[in-house]
Amino acid sequence: MDFDAMQAACLTCQRCKLCETRTHVVFGMGNPQAEVMLIGEGPGRSEDEQGLPFVGRSGQLLDQYLRAMHLDRNKNIFITNIVKCRPPENRDPQPDEWEACMPWLREQFRVIRPKIIVCLGRIAAQRLIRPDFSVMREHGQWTEKGGTFFTATLHPAALLRTPSNKPLCYADFVAVRTKIEEICTHTY
Ligand code: SF4
Repeated sequence: MDFDAMQAACLTCQRCKLCETRTHVVFGMGNPQAEVMLIGEGPGRSEDEQGLPFVGRSGQLLDQYLRAMHLDRNKNIFITNIVKCRPPENRDPQPDEWEACMPWLREQFRVIRPKIIVCLGRIAAQRLIRPDFSVMREHGQWTEKGGTFFTATLHPAALLRTPSNKPLCYADFVAVRTKIEEICTHTY
């Protein structure tokens, strides 16, 4: 399946019960040839309304970090979530929901072939790096799996709640930029 066919199929997905309450499937946005993917846990209210990832207040904060690292969601990265439909009341995605949705993310990995994956927050880190991953203890560390480098940082929504953690997140993005300069060929 090529990228456009995958996106079209995903936008009509009914594999889990989140399809009953969503407004839009949030497939993700960015460059299909990106070497860097950012992955959050799931769409919130604004994302569900617009069908785009990270477009609310936390998305605006994320864009500030991205701009500081010369990353642009319209040019050289791809952003998506573990689940593509909004969990009601912004609850955590449930195991049956992320299991149902993971094939979409796996298909995105297969087509985009990122070299670096940045998990935004606990849910993505525990699903993609290690089930007991602690974002507060292990953010900014790197794990290589099958030639792809994974790291995690704090979710921007958590930074809005606890702004004193912003320097930690900024340092993680600086480390991402350094890794991009080391291993990527066309991000910058
Ligand atoms: S959350 Fe994922 S699996 Fe569930 S309906 Fe949406 S796209 Fe399909």
